[in-house]
Amino acid sequence: MANKAYKFRIYPTKEQEQLMMKTFGCVRFVYNKMLAERKETYEQFKDDKEMLKKQKHPTPAKYKAEFEWLKEVDSLALANAQMNLQKSYRNFFAGRAKFPQFKARKAKQSYTTNLVNGNIRLLNGHIQLPKLKTVKLTQHRDIPPHHKIKSCTISRSATGKYYISILTEYAHKPVPKEVKALVGLDFAMDGLYVESEQGEKANHPRFYRQTQEKLAKEQKVLSRRMKGSARYEKQRLRVAAVHEQVANQRKDFLHKKSRQLANQYDGVVIEDLNMKGMSQSLHFGKSVADNGWGMFTTFLQYKLGEQGKHLIKINKWFPSIKTCSHCGHVKQMALSERRYACECGFVCDRDWNAAINIKNEGKMMLALS
Ligand SMILES: [Zn+2]
Repeated sequence: MANKAYKFRIYPTKEQEQLMMKTFGCVRFVYNKMLAERKETYEQFKDDKEMLKKQKHPTPAKYKAEFEWLKEVDSLALANAQMNLQKSYRNFFAGRAKFPQFKARKAKQSYTTNLVNGNIRLLNGHIQLPKLKTVKLTQHRDIPPHHKIKSCTISRSATGKYYISILTEYAHKPVPKEVKALVGLDFAMDGLYVESEQGEKANHPRFYRQTQEKLAKEQKVLSRRMKGSARYEKQRLRVAAVHEQVANQRKDFLHKKSRQLANQYDGVVIEDLNMKGMSQSLHFGKSVADNGWGMFTTFLQYKLGEQGKHLIKINKWFPSIKTCSHCGHVKQMALSERRYACECGFVCDRDWNAAINIKNEGKMMLALS
């Protein structure tokens, strides 16, 4: 079974909007209640592991008697709050995450509900949801009939737009494809990557960079406003709107580029970069994080995988920049050197040379596997 999510904008009525806001609030309330209770239990029994194990975890049902208004919202949303908390704890105990945090009012507003007995249905231009009846939506792409809806996440953006992400499940087992067309990508600090075939750089479109500049300008204006004032609030919304625009443009661009590569090639070779480590150690901080490389590789992996194609990750310590892609000679390269010139006579753009090396390394790994 494979999963795929489809995200659409929805247009709730005033009443539906109120109920959604109320549900966001109830989910947060129940989550925080359960977390507080679990913390308390832990404090109480932490010295007696046997007793601690015997304690039952709180459930949303428990609070419904005391807080009647919880009954007004989708009970599946509350059940999912419990699931999320359990997941947070599991991740914490597995060393994958920090200790679960209380959800602040300012946190992302969303809730998830599940398909149970046909309670969710996509109709023409509308979606039927628990408690909300039918909500208007713009469905810009079809969900194939063999995709079964599993759950829906309703969210509100910082600027007050509503979205629904529909998670589907479908039977899919792609046949692994033989790799004939292979490409190597060298991560580019400015832009996205340089590819091995033509040495072309995938640059963000100009309008994206313009929006980024606009964002910087609006943020500067915000920093001059007095916190809490009406003008501050107005500017904050403006910043949030441009922020959303930047995020959407970037995502579109990453989808487009990964789609092109996944259609054109059977295999894509990349360096297995640890972006977090990289941004910390090289002080590239923001530019790496904003560059979207992580998101891009996720898209790429997915788009290749669904066709039985391959994303090949090579060791990040492989000296892709220092190696001559023509003769294999290794030499030191200063960060400022834009051209790779080897004693064998080979001269090449630095990043293109690296991309070719990455491709060749991936080819070797494929041959070995
Ligand atoms: Zn050489």
